[in-house]
Amino acid sequence: MQITVAKKAGFCFGVKRAIDIAFKLARDTKKEIYEEITKIGYKIVDATCPFVKKAQKRAQTLKEEGYQILIVGDKEHPEVQALLGFAGDDAIVLCDKDTVPPLKKKVGIIVQTTQPVEALKKIVCHVISEAEEVKVYNTICDSTSQRLEETKDLAKEVDIMMVVGGKNSANTAQLARLSAEICPRVYFIETTDEIKEDWFNGAKKIGITGGASTPRWIIDGVVKKLKEISVKR
Ligand code: SF4
Repeated sequence: MQITVAKKAGFCFGVKRAIDIAFKLARDTKKEIYEEITKIGYKIVDATCPFVKKAQKRAQTLKEEGYQILIVGDKEHPEVQALLGFAGDDAIVLCDKDTVPPLKKKVGIIVQTTQPVEALKKIVCHVISEAEEVKVYNTICDSTSQRLEETKDLAKEVDIMMVVGGKNSANTAQLARLSAEICPRVYFIETTDEIKEDWFNGAKKIGITGGASTPRWIIDGVVKKLKEISVKR
């Protein structure tokens, strides 16, 4: 079996940066600091991804400029919940399947960093015909769009797509949905234990991708297991 791992599979820039910050802190923190922390309170280190911060800043600016804010994204996602804190009480969250409610004259649109651009386009098209003034900030992160494009290309080339990552990860689920639109055999797994040998019957080319929060060692584990299956054939 020929196994191809998407170049963008696994940790994105923002997640890698946050993890590096956490490891560096753990390395640099002297033991005495624990005592100090209990005495003076917590030290806060903000490892929020700069792209997420940028979206928060955009939300704040739109609010200050008097726009009614529309966030394209998933209401339950922590990033959107945090954005709501910046966007104010009358902000509305919509996904591309939702109906756009009546809006004020000035509408400002921002988007969850991991949404597909098609969702943003759909909502913008609708709002443009309703509101008098529309300001749009495309806050989608490049890493997400590149990962989606790469997954699309890989899914066209292979017999089976393996999508690796947390079942509760929105961007990994998105990769699985996109793969399933193109490739007839898609398996969405969290760990190598889920892999079954008979999935690969008759398959010659396997593609592997993973979400922004999927650790590289899990992807490497999947590759190792597929190689083991391959040599048995
Ligand atoms: S997906 Fe993009 S916005 Fe989200 S953490 Fe990664 S780099 Fe940052």
